[in-house]
Amino acid sequence: MPELPEVETVVHGLKPQVEGKILLSDSNSGKNLRYPLPDFSTCHGATLKNIERRAKHLLFHFDNGKILMWHLGMTGQFHVLPTSEPKTKHEHVCLTFSGDCTLRYRDTRRFGYVGLCQTSELESHKWIQNLGIEPLTTAFDGQYLKGKLSTRKTSIKQAMMDNHVVVGVGNIYASESLFRAKINPKQVAQSLSTKKLNTLAEHIKHVLNEAIEAGGSTISDFVKADGQPGYFAHNFKAYGRADKPCLTCAKPIEKIVLGGRASFFCPKCQKLK
Ligand SMILES: [Zn+2]
Repeated sequence: MPELPEVETVVHGLKPQVEGKILLSDSNSGKNLRYPLPDFSTCHGATLKNIERRAKHLLFHFDNGKILMWHLGMTGQFHVLPTSEPKTKHEHVCLTFSGDCTLRYRDTRRFGYVGLCQTSELESHKWIQNLGIEPLTTAFDGQYLKGKLSTRKTSIKQAMMDNHVVVGVGNIYASESLFRAKINPKQVAQSLSTKKLNTLAEHIKHVLNEAIEAGGSTISDFVKADGQPGYFAHNFKAYGRADKPCLTCAKPIEKIVLGGRASFFCPKCQKLK
């Protein structure tokens, strides 16, 4: 499933290819994605000004005051192709832009979704309004986390994966940043000091930025080709390394299940306090 770094990578990949172009027409496979498709024709003739990311949504801002909000679900992929390129299997939406450019949306499992809203309605939109802070902002720090977690009796791992606290910290990135911050994933969230939470916030940013940078070098593959990127897999220090020696102390990494998700940690470096 695409996580925040992958979505950020897709945004980086699409920007130079489609920004500034005019949406001319659209077509679709006749199949719904997770929800029914919006009426793309309300943006025909409008220029795509800017693409950005909010949590795991891609936001396509048009100059007619409308925004296309797109979530890749489990298997969604964008491909930018010339107009003449034939339609492929699992291609569900094709947006034709000026300059011989089509944006194709392919999604094998069709868990992705897309909607349209007015710019003024974005922050109150049901997909956006309850989202927590973006982790790559300066406002995301120990003080912010302390405020959010002061009454939380859940584990810090589950709290970090809660979109109401902070968006885009998926299972892999939560495990990795807790390992680097030397915090046990089972530690009760409210018991952590502002200083420790600040260290955690710094590591979350670092892990996410590392993944985005790694993705940047394979951007064309990600946007244009099939298959999973897997580019960050080589950098895992804890995730997926059950029974392998900790890279800091050589003690075997342990695997536990927290909130139904696999968690990997070093029992020596990440002691419960
Ligand atoms: Zn260790």
